[in-house]
Amino acid sequence: MIIYKTPEEIELIRSSCLLVSKVHEMIAQELRPGLSGMHIDRMAETLIRDHGAVPGFKGYGGFPATLCVSVNEQVVHGIPSEKQIFSEGDVVSVDCGAILEGFYGDAAYTFALGDIAPETMELLEVTKTALYLGIAEVVPGNRIGDIGFAIQDYAERQHGFGVVRDLVGHGVGRSLHEDPQVPNFGKRGRGAKLQEGLVIAIEPMINLGKKEVFTGKDGWTISTRDKLPSAHYEHTVALKEGKVDILSSFLGIELAVEQNNWLQTVRVREVEQAK
Ligand code: MG
Ligand code: MG
Repeated sequence: MIIYKTPEEIELIRSSCLLVSKVHEMIAQELRPGLSGMHIDRMAETLIRDHGAVPGFKGYGGFPATLCVSVNEQVVHGIPSEKQIFSEGDVVSVDCGAILEGFYGDAAYTFALGDIAPETMELLEVTKTALYLGIAEVVPGNRIGDIGFAIQDYAERQHGFGVVRDLVGHGVGRSLHEDPQVPNFGKRGRGAKLQEGLVIAIEPMINLGKKEVFTGKDGWTISTRDKLPSAHYEHTVALKEGKVDILSSFLGIELAVEQNNWLQTVRVREVEQAK
């Protein structure tokens, strides 16, 4: 059952999301070769607790850390550790959740550490654009399938990358994972209709190679079968006053999708004033 949110509840979710965004901002400034996953995990936990919030992932289903830190061929749910040392050329995906006043925020970002392979850079750019194309589908009257279709069409058909099927986006609220499921693949016009008050996390996980993934021996870390890198970007968004509102960005973001015959792209404009 989808739990639609009131404007007041959306503002509470925004507060949690903005704290998560602050964590990503801090990591963007601090991340460098030689640091460990555990180091950034501790920094993230301190920042979240200093703001009177609680890490959203720690203890969730038994997950042991504040962040999911997934490097290179790791797709999602990597467990930060002292042994996980970052190197130049790594792509580091950081997923973070926080709970503030009873509501979750959830967002992820994939960072490139120094010079990375050109095809990996393209993967990051395509995954980020796919996220925004998915977000641009969040308009009244559209359906969940329209989001997945936009992401899959761009990443798979236009760019030949692998769209992970085993993990999906989700509703966000008093629980981290609420209905509806938001797949990164799908058909236009299928699934639940998008209605005012919907709050969902859209989170494409896109592989440079094939879509197949597996769960590691730790029971958590999901990696690509072909060992090629993967990227993951996530925003929590709301359908509010007939428009999509990106809750996990401190800047307003305007999206303009351009269709040129078979090719689609999206222009992302950050609106100057903070919300
Ligand atoms: Mg997440
Ligand atoms: Mg999520």
